[in-house]
This record gives sequence, structure tokens and C-alpha cells, in this order.
Amino acid sequence: MKPVIALIGRPNVGKSTLFNRLTRSRDALVADMPGLTRDRHYGEGRVGDRPFLVIDTGGFEPVAKEGIMYEMAKQTKQAVAEADVVIFIVDGRQGLTPHDKTITDFLRKSGRSVMLVVNKAEGMKYTSVTADFYELGLGDPYVISAAHGDGVSDLVIEALDIA
Ligand code: GDP
Ligand code: MG
Repeated sequence: MKPVIALIGRPNVGKSTLFNRLTRSRDALVADMPGLTRDRHYGEGRVGDRPFLVIDTGGFEPVAKEGIMYEMAKQTKQAVAEADVVIFIVDGRQGLTPHDKTITDFLRKSGRSVMLVVNKAEGMKYTSVTADFYELGLGDPYVISAAHGDGVSDLVIEALDIA
């Protein structure tokens, strides 16, 4: 079984950008795998000789009628349940938001291994880009730029070691 990494975070933090980078051209849907549904995005990635599956929870965006909590419960919950490790992405340029805290509570209750990852960190100092996020209580954040690729390989290697 390939380890499964779920990308979790509020809209616009860069989940899909990271997903695309991790899967590159091989984001073939793995929809024939049992238990996988089509409203989440599954792809295959590889770092060195270590393959993995990655889930982009694009369905996290709030749906007006039903509310963010409903969406979290429905889609993200399932992705988290399937994951060996959760990559929880926050936006280093925007800083901490209440929504990040809600997600943190949710992830904590899930009991999964969570890696807190500050994205959009290109050109920024570790201490300033991470300062906001210590209050989430998830330890030292990892810092990446999904768009530029900085820190991404190291992050995945770490994730696979945890998984
Ligand atoms: P998602 O909603 O979490 O899937 O976020 P997207 O991957 O769609 O990205 C949201 C926006 O953030 C897009 O405009 C991306 O180009 C931008 N973005 C993603 N990663 C980075 C990054 O590492 N640095 C910067 N500066 N922008 C980024
Ligand atoms: Mg997306």
C-alpha cells in the first residue's frame, strides 16, 4: 500500500498548487481504487523511489447553503480518515485566520499525524512567516513555496517518514 497524504486547509492557501507539483503530469485519477469517490482529487506522486498517493481536498470551499462545517464534515473528514498523514496548509502571507483554528480543532480530534505547513513563504524569513502560527499548538511549522517548489521535497520525505 502506498502511503496516503491528504492536503487540508482553507480555500486559497495553495493546496491545488502543491497537489499539481507533487503529481506533476501524473495526476491520473485513481478512481478505480475501492472506497475512493470522485469529489476529491487523488493523484500519484513519487520522491526518489518512494511512491505515494495525495488527496487534494478541493471540496473544502464553503457552500452557501450548507456552511463550512458541513463541508468539512462531509469531504475533508473522509480524506483525513483515509490519510496516513495530513499536510495542513496555511498562508504565510495572509497569516492566521479563525478558519485555520477551526480546522486545527477538527484535525486534532481526528487523531491523525498532522504537519503544519506555511505556504507562500518564498522570499520570507522563517521567523516572521511562521510567528503567527505557533498558537495553533502544532509545533514548529514547515515552510514551503508550492508555487516555486522551495521546501517541497523535504516536506514530502518528512511526511513519508511519519506515514
Ligand atoms: P487552494 O484553494 O488551497 O487549492 O489554493 P490554490 O492552489 O488554488 O492557490 C491559491 C492562490 O495562491 C493561487 O493564486 C496560487 O497561484 C497562489 N499560490 C499558491 N502557492 C503559492 C506560493 O507558494 N506562493 C505564492 N506567492 N502564491 C501561491
Ligand atoms: Mg484547490
